[in-house]
Amino acid sequence: MTAYNLTFQPYRRRFRQPLQTHHGIWEVREGIIVKLVDELGNAGWGEIAPLPWFGSETLEDAIAFCRGLGEKIEVNDLKSIPSHLPACQFGLECAIPSVASNPNFPKARYSYLLPAGENALERWESLWQQGGRTFKWKIGIHSLQQEIPLFEKLARSLPEGAKIRLDANGGLNLEAAKTWLQGLDLSKKVEFIEQPLPPSELDAMVQLSGDFTTPIALDESVATLQQLEGCYEKGWRGIFIIKPAIAGSPQQLRQFCQQYGIDAVFSSVFETEIGRRAALNLAAELSNPNRAIGFGVNHWFD
Ligand SMILES: [Mg+2]
Repeated sequence: MTAYNLTFQPYRRRFRQPLQTHHGIWEVREGIIVKLVDELGNAGWGEIAPLPWFGSETLEDAIAFCRGLGEKIEVNDLKSIPSHLPACQFGLECAIPSVASNPNFPKARYSYLLPAGENALERWESLWQQGGRTFKWKIGIHSLQQEIPLFEKLARSLPEGAKIRLDANGGLNLEAAKTWLQGLDLSKKVEFIEQPLPPSELDAMVQLSGDFTTPIALDESVATLQQLEGCYEKGWRGIFIIKPAIAGSPQQLRQFCQQYGIDAVFSSVFETEIGRRAALNLAAELSNPNRAIGFGVNHWFD
């Protein structure tokens, strides 16, 4: 049986400007780089990039788990990582030494994350000049009375051919979600709205996706493979945002996506280049080719 030597190193990476979402303010991305070396001396790297407010393990859980594995591990250890450690499943499985590939997407295939609030109005243009055509803007942070007029301003300012996605991070209530969707159905300017309600409100989101024409995407609801399977079973047939770095085992994720042919939009969790490359490889294979992927985030770091 193949055995590996495991080493790991935690990292900290500060955002150029804090990231503001309904979950709060995020200033530093922390994670772990893991390295596996097989008996022939082949090395592979992987990244554990937890997102605990999305339901993944914490950084501390991940460090404790890596420590507990010890320096010598076997391939079975990698296959039996418990499902409550999805970021560890991803990072360690990706670190298995293999032929490296480096997927290259055109700029127009990334969705670029704009800053929340008014700052979006000044930010989109340079991203557009660099080739970006899809932009994502966070809502559910300020009041409806503030955000709807700002959105309309943003939508008017974007050139023909631009696409907008809205992401509420589960921060709306049912009334607010309906107000947004009524307006969006009329303006027809939005590709989809992401996670309008919290994950506990799945039935209401299924209902909304039947009542309005603007598509709805689940994100927080489907953070891990188990949740993804659960929502599919409960009848969700809209868009699924998949963050491979916290979804769990890439192997099992691949199986699920291929079996059910879901409308998947792969997306970043602000991982470093190591996790990003592994996530992009999965996106190239499994993300809906007609939609931009949520990896336009490098401008958030120096
Ligand atoms: Mg989201």
